Amino acid sequence: MIDSVLSEENIMFREAVRKFAEEKITPNVKTWEKEGKYPDEYYTHLAEMGFMGLLVPEEYGGAGGSMVDLAILCEEMGRAGVSIPLTHVSACCRAIVHQGNQDQKRRYLPEMASGKMIGAYCQTEPNAGSDAGNLSSFAEKKDGYFLLNGRKVFISNGKIARVFIVLAKTERNLTKPSKGIAMFIVDRDTPGVSIGKTEELMGRHCSSLDEIIFEDVKVPEENLLIPAGGTGFKAMMNEFNSERCGNSAFCVGFAQGAYERTLRYCKERVQFGQPIAELQGIRWTLAEMAIKIQAARLLIYDALIKEKKGKMIAKEACMAKKFANEMAVWVCDQAIQLHGAYGYTTDYEVERYYRDVRGWSMGGGTTQVCLNRIAHEILK
Ligand SMILES: Cc1cc2nc3c(=O)[nH]c(=O)nc-3n(C[C@H](O)[C@H](O)[C@H](O)COP(=O)(O)OP(=O)(O)OC[C@H]3O[C@@H](n4cnc5c(N)ncnc54)[C@H](O)[C@@H]3O)c2cc1C
Repeated sequence: MIDSVLSEENIMFREAVRKFAEEKITPNVKTWEKEGKYPDEYYTHLAEMGFMGLLVPEEYGGAGGSMVDLAILCEEMGRAGVSIPLTHVSACCRAIVHQGNQDQKRRYLPEMASGKMIGAYCQTEPNAGSDAGNLSSFAEKKDGYFLLNGRKVFISNGKIARVFIVLAKTERNLTKPSKGIAMFIVDRDTPGVSIGKTEELMGRHCSSLDEIIFEDVKVPEENLLIPAGGTGFKAMMNEFNSERCGNSAFCVGFAQGAYERTLRYCKERVQFGQPIAELQGIRWTLAEMAIKIQAARLLIYDALIKEKKGKMIAKEACMAKKFANEMAVWVCDQAIQLHGAYGYTTDYEVERYYRDVRGWSMGGGTTQVCLNRIAHEILK
C-alpha cells in the first residue's frame, strides 16, 4: 500500500470505502453483470456514502474531497470489480467546480452531489476520437442561447445521465481548430436531445457506452461553461488529467482485485502434492504482479502530489495512465493463467476483471495519445 504519502484522513477514507465496497459492491457485481444493465442501487449506495459529490465543495452539498480521495475511491471500486466509470465525479462535477460560475455551481452541483442528477462527459464523435480538435458538433451563437447540433459516441453513462458536459465548436475555420471548441452544460430534458445506439461491449456489462444526439438544441447562454479561444481548450485538457488519474486508479484496483484472488487461489490449489504457490514459477509471477501494481500506484500518487502543489501534471497523468492500463491488462491475464482452466470460467471472476479492464486504455486518451503527450513534454 501507499500509506507513506497518505494523510490519516485519506487512510480512514480508504478503510471506509473498502468496507463499503466489500459489503455492498463485491457480493453483487456478478449478478449486476449477468443482468447487463445499470444497477440503480450502485448509484444510490454511492450517493448515500457521499461519493457522488466527492469533489464538490461542502457549501454545494458535496464532501469537499481531494483528487487523492478520488484515486482511493476509484481504486477500491476497481478492486471490488465493478466496471462502472466515475466520470460523473471526475470529469463532470470537477469541470463545474473548477470552471463554473456561481450560478452554474448553485444550479447543478447540489443535485449532482446528491446523485439525483448523474452527469456524462460528451467529447468523442464518429470522426473525432484522439483527434479531439476535429469535432463536428457546432453551437451557433444566437440571441440568448446557442443552437447545438452534433452526435457524440461511446459516452459512458450516457443513457442514464440527466446532464451532459458537451464539447462543441462555436467558431469554424480557425488555423488552430482546437481554439474554436467550447464546453457546455446541457440538460437531458432539453428538446432535441436524444439517446441513439448503445454499443455491445466485450466487458463492462453493467455499464454502457451510448450515442447522444443533439438536434437543434437550444442551450441557454448561461450554460456555457468554458468559452472557445483564450485558454479554454487548455483548461479542458487540464480537466482531463483528473480523468486520467481516476482511470489509472481504477485499473490499479482491477489489478489488485485480480491479484488478491490469485494469491488466495494459489495458496489453496494443490498440484504435485503442494499448493501451487510453492512452485517457483508461480511465486515469481505473483511477485511480478505485486511489483507492477505498486509501480503504477506510485506513478498515480506522484501525479496527484504534484497536482496538489498546483503543478501541471499532463506528463505525469499520461505516464500513470499508460503504465496502469497496460499493467492491469497484464496482471488480469496472468490471474487467468494462474487459475488454470478455472480462470477461464466465470466461477472465479478473474475473466470478468480481464474483459472489463481492457477498455480502460481507450477512454480518457489512448495509450498512443498518452505516449505522444509524454514525448511532447519531455522534448519541449
Ligand atoms: C470504455 C470506454 C469509455 C469511454 N468513455 C467516453 C466518455 O465518457 N466520453 C467520451 O467523450 N468518450 C469516451 N470514450 C471514447 C474514447 O475517448 C475514444 O475511444 C478515444 O478518444 C479514442 O478515439 P477512437 O476510439 O475514435 O480511436 P482513434 O482516435 O480512431 O484511434 C484509433 C487508433 O489509432 C491510434 N492513434 C490515433 N491517433 C494517433 C496518433 N496521433 N499517434 C499514434 N496513434 C494514434 C489510437 O491510439 C488507436 O489505437 C470511451 C471509450 C471507451 C472504450
